[in-house]
Amino acid sequence: MNSKQLSKGVRAAVSKFESSLKEGKTPARYRMAMKKIVCAHCGADQFLKGNISNLTGGIMASGRSSGLHSLVCVGCSRMELFAAEPTKDETEV
Ligand SMILES: [Zn+2]
Repeated sequence: MNSKQLSKGVRAAVSKFESSLKEGKTPARYRMAMKKIVCAHCGADQFLKGNISNLTGGIMASGRSSGLHSLVCVGCSRMELFAAEPTKDETEV
C-alpha cells in the first residue's frame, strides 16, 4: 500500500460516511477485544461502520481478503480502521 492508495481509500470512506449521514443511517457503539471502542480524539462512543475493502484495491494486494473495517466517529468524524470486524455493542442503550 502506498500513501496515494490510502488517501484514495480514505476519501472514499469519508464520502461514504457523508452519504450514510444523509441516508439517516443510525450510529452505534462497537467493541473490539472485549473493550468498548471510544474515539481517540473526542471521546464519543458512537460510530458509523463501513467496509472499505472494495474501495482500496491496492491495500489488499497482499492477498488478504478480509478488507478493512472503518468506524467513523459521529462526534468529530475521526476514522478508526480495523483489520477485523468490530462487534456491535447491543448491551447499552
Ligand atoms: Zn470523535
